[in-house]
Amino acid sequence: MVATPLNQGRQQYERSSLAELSDTTTAKTPGQQIAVDLRRTIDHFVPDLYVRLENVVDPRARRGYTMTEILLGCLFMFICKQGSRNAMNLDRDNTIFAQNFEKLFGKRLPHMDTVDDVLVLLDNHELERLKASLVATLIEKKVFGKYRLLGSLYRVAVDGTGIMTVDEGHCAHCLKRESKNGVTTYFHNILEAKLITPNGFAISLATEWIENPETYEKQDCELKAFQRLADKLKGFFPRLPICVHADGSTPIRPSSRSARPIIGVSSLPSRTAILSLSGKKSKWSF
Ligand SMILES: [Zn+2]
Repeated sequence: MVATPLNQGRQQYERSSLAELSDTTTAKTPGQQIAVDLRRTIDHFVPDLYVRLENVVDPRARRGYTMTEILLGCLFMFICKQGSRNAMNLDRDNTIFAQNFEKLFGKRLPHMDTVDDVLVLLDNHELERLKASLVATLIEKKVFGKYRLLGSLYRVAVDGTGIMTVDEGHCAHCLKRESKNGVTTYFHNILEAKLITPNGFAISLATEWIENPETYEKQDCELKAFQRLADKLKGFFPRLPICVHADGSTPIRPSSRSARPIIGVSSLPSRTAILSLSGKKSKWSF
């Protein structure tokens, strides 16, 4: 292997990869078993996880922790279902907890305020690319193959959801609506595309903010956001055969004269079917 900086970095992280520790960790309690299972799951499906985490473009000028440590700490907070950064920090203050983390992952656990400082600077697209690459690996390894519709189509649910609502403007990009009595509410929504399975998995493939630009004539909306989301899906998964499951408000329902969806189909992955659910009616198009 040529000793490029990337390869040197890769060798460094492979040396400290999870695989070295998994066989030496013996679980004695259910909690330990979960931790060991988590390690083994990562080893099995994404043994190069540390390389991928380290390849996320680091926005910092000064770097105390590696990107792998920052992102791994962040992921672990969510895996542990911690209610807040403070709750995670309290666990981190427990010496045994911190030691177990290092034993399990071979990495230091950063303070969650440090993690937050990095995430504030980090380009959203970096994390979204990472997420898509991880899901693509699971798809390549046929983890979801048995859940395909008609034996070939991955089910992708697309829908909007609210993230936050406030009484006063929170930023320049807030959406806003005015009630009948003249009260203005400000809010943020996202449009999500999730890989779904009949046994209840819902795995994010791509996320698009529905938000206003600095200046605008008409507010951003689900229709415009769908086009951007479709572009993302096609970019991340260009040849993935999918069936989009969408509700009646999503602008991809087939028109009455054509089986072609109204917009977005040219942006979606090349082998896409649409299942549009509106009330009790369902429509198909290919
Ligand atoms: Zn805002």
